[in-house]
Amino acid sequence: MRLIIMGPPGAGKGTQAAFISEKFEIPAISTGDIFRANVSEGTPLGLEAKKFMDAGEYVPDEVTNGMVRNRIAEPDAQGGFLLDGYPRTLAQVEELDGMLADTGAALDAVISLTVDRDEVVARLLQRSQEQGRADDTEEVIRHRQEVYAEQTEPLIAVYSQRDLVHEVDGLGEIDVVAERIHTVLRGLA
Ligand code: AMP
Repeated sequence: MRLIIMGPPGAGKGTQAAFISEKFEIPAISTGDIFRANVSEGTPLGLEAKKFMDAGEYVPDEVTNGMVRNRIAEPDAQGGFLLDGYPRTLAQVEELDGMLADTGAALDAVISLTVDRDEVVARLLQRSQEQGRADDTEEVIRHRQEVYAEQTEPLIAVYSQRDLVHEVDGLGEIDVVAERIHTVLRGLA
């Protein structure tokens, strides 16, 4: 299966991606995780990405697209994958279309996690205080939500036109949300 999980920052995409990955035996590919790994290793890619990430902005498409193209070409992704955090812009959608066309593969579904925006911001603020992430200020957290609303939310309409979107209520206990997602995916298999 080739899947995308979408939702605003803080919706719980990463947590749910890990469950889906285990259950359906496909790698969960998180561009945010790949960037963070590069930042902590101090690679040139990490140094480039960090300034955008710290400001709550998107890393430029040229950087992100090449990274994803390489990752989905790896052997473990040949039987399917779950993309978490990509695509995030219309240009990335087109790029992903091209990558899939090159390999003759197609997307099976887009899981759209829906959550209440204020609830999510409150959750993220609490997390940044608990974990002492001083760089995650309220301003940056709110800015990330705005960037998502402007640049990424429109992608849901694009994939809806292709009949790929399955909306899943992202509020509630983690395992309850996971079960909602599994119900959708079982219906596809
Ligand atoms: P995430 O963990 O998915 O919220 O990603 C953390 C940060 O990495 C984002 O705030 C962006 O700065 C950057 N990032 C992750 N994925 C992408 C993407 N597809 N395009 C551009 N920037 C990204």
